[in-house]
Amino acid sequence: MAAKSEVIKEILERYKTIWALNHASAVLSWDREVNMPEDGIGGRSLASAEIAKLIQKLMLDESFVKLIDRAEEEKDFTDVEKGIIRMLKRDLKFYRRVPPEVVAEFAKVTSEAFVAWRNAKERADFKTFAPYLERIVELSRVIADKLGYDEHPYDALLDLYEEGLTSRDVDSIFSTLEPGIRRLLEKLEARGWPKSHPLEEEPYDRHSMEAAIREVLALIGYPEKRFRIDVSPHPFTTGLASPFDVRITVRYPPKDFREPLFSAVHEFGHALYELQIDEALAFTPVGTGVSLGVHESQSRFWENMIGRSREFLLHIAPILRRHLPFLAKYSDDDLYYYFNIVRPSLIRTEADEVTYNLHILLRYRLEKLMIAGEVKVADIPALWNEEMERLLGVRPKNDAEGVLQDIHWSHGSIGYFPTYTLGNVIAAQIRHAMGKLDEMIAAGKFNEIKEWLRERIHRWGAVYPPKEIVRRATGETYNPTYLLNYLENKYK
Ligand code: MG
Repeated sequence: MAAKSEVIKEILERYKTIWALNHASAVLSWDREVNMPEDGIGGRSLASAEIAKLIQKLMLDESFVKLIDRAEEEKDFTDVEKGIIRMLKRDLKFYRRVPPEVVAEFAKVTSEAFVAWRNAKERADFKTFAPYLERIVELSRVIADKLGYDEHPYDALLDLYEEGLTSRDVDSIFSTLEPGIRRLLEKLEARGWPKSHPLEEEPYDRHSMEAAIREVLALIGYPEKRFRIDVSPHPFTTGLASPFDVRITVRYPPKDFREPLFSAVHEFGHALYELQIDEALAFTPVGTGVSLGVHESQSRFWENMIGRSREFLLHIAPILRRHLPFLAKYSDDDLYYYFNIVRPSLIRTEADEVTYNLHILLRYRLEKLMIAGEVKVADIPALWNEEMERLLGVRPKNDAEGVLQDIHWSHGSIGYFPTYTLGNVIAAQIRHAMGKLDEMIAAGKFNEIKEWLRERIHRWGAVYPPKEIVRRATGETYNPTYLLNYLENKYK
């Protein structure tokens, strides 16, 4: 990388080893999800934990820390150089402030909690998971206190996933979204917008679907030598800490081909972000997507705002009909309504783009109450069910389809969920800022769309903090009204 500053050059030279370990660690995780036989898990967990320790040791190495501190005193850094120091300081802050004993205890509790959660979910019994969640909440509170915050301990946790995001931001977003979405749901109910479609029950041939997905992604366009698609139980994207090797995975349930189709387009959005990062930033602390929220804005933009649009359907319907013969008896209208069913439901991962953010609101409120100590963990399932009924009008029959449905709390990921809603909000801001998106899709101008995203967002990697990159790309910080306008226009 063309760094001017001598101290930055020295930092980047030292950072290469840390980058290499991050890269190795990402390959190990990818392999665990895609290839590894079940019993490999013990050795793999050990290897990953040892690599994490090594990274921490290198980061905290006295001479490396001194270099970073010295760099902070320099005045005329470029934006890229400032970004490098900002990102390293973020990592250092965590390592310096959170004692290793707390990190080790957290790792131990969450690995036990994962097993406890899986068993509790199988038996639909929250009680056996509750002691683990209590411990996770306590430890998260300790971590928040060590990291520090201005207004609410939850802010310290949010910042781990989304630099600079506060509960004040999230409250402000939901104060617009909640009433707006609920109004829209009432309208859709009154107008009789489709809540189901026979195609949901239609089985499909997996290999035909794979071929269709490859054609759909080829239509948008991707660099073949830098990209691959595999199969895993939970779809994900990994950039392996470099724009030269980006991989997505897809899952193929036996029926309802929307899931593999749109999860592939979703992951493609994540992949494109990593693929279009400026090559000059590769192997540096800023050669990566900047945050979970900005990353999710890219996946949601492609999945929902492009993938589920009428204009995109015109391009992909012929591809789908060629590979899936049962579609012969369905019109384009059928496909459009099938792709855009709106149905208040219990399970977040199955939620449509209208109801999805209400699921996030529910989790956000409960997390904030738990972290503030304003509610007992034992009372969470009852609160969950009440909130679910109030927000979405549906009530879980048991904990498995209620409070136990998501894996995140067992991983200790408290403060993570709001980044999903933030991603939807940013995606709609981008859609607005881009102008005539629907016309570009209709004309098949995918290169123009990709170029817009590359120029304003992707190429910068983590050079600018999330709020700044969003402001640079869209002219303002987080503004949820574009998401509401988009939804109201689409679901007319
Ligand atoms: Mg995603």
